[in-house]
Amino acid sequence: MPCTHSTHCATEAMARAEAICLARGARLTPMRRAVLAEIWGGHDASKAYDLIDRLSQPGHAIKPPTVYRALDFLLAHGLIHRIESLNAFIGCHHPHTPHQAILLICDRCGDIEEQSSESLNTLLQTLAGESGFAPSRQSVELRGTCRHCLTVTAGTSPS
Ligand SMILES: [Zn+2]
Ligand SMILES: [Zn+2]
Repeated sequence: MPCTHSTHCATEAMARAEAICLARGARLTPMRRAVLAEIWGGHDASKAYDLIDRLSQPGHAIKPPTVYRALDFLLAHGLIHRIESLNAFIGCHHPHTPHQAILLICDRCGDIEEQSSESLNTLLQTLAGESGFAPSRQSVELRGTCRHCLTVTAGTSPS
């Protein structure tokens, strides 16, 4: 079973982020840390405005650009992935190795599984090259039904 976004994952993810930032001489500031913790703490992908809401205290609203800057930092260091079709973010399980994520998004339960494929990346680069195109961002997302929801559906379908 792939690891889902549990508390255990969140704790591990924060430790990984600390280690990566330390090794790269990047600063995991309290705001960057708080945004990352919120992303790992959510059950589903987090939207920027939800993060702004969740991080704001009564009488102390967090300014959107503060959160967007933190998100840019986390993206740049591969600690999170942007889900283009949902305009949301999820934590990455293996940020140590640079990779392009392939996201499998379940439309029923909202679960998102991450995979990566060197051969697909090579193919996309070849296709872009043939068109004389210089990609600045790659996003591969599949929408559908996860294996858990498929099992549930199979179990409850009328005979
Ligand atoms: Zn990843
Ligand atoms: Zn599902």
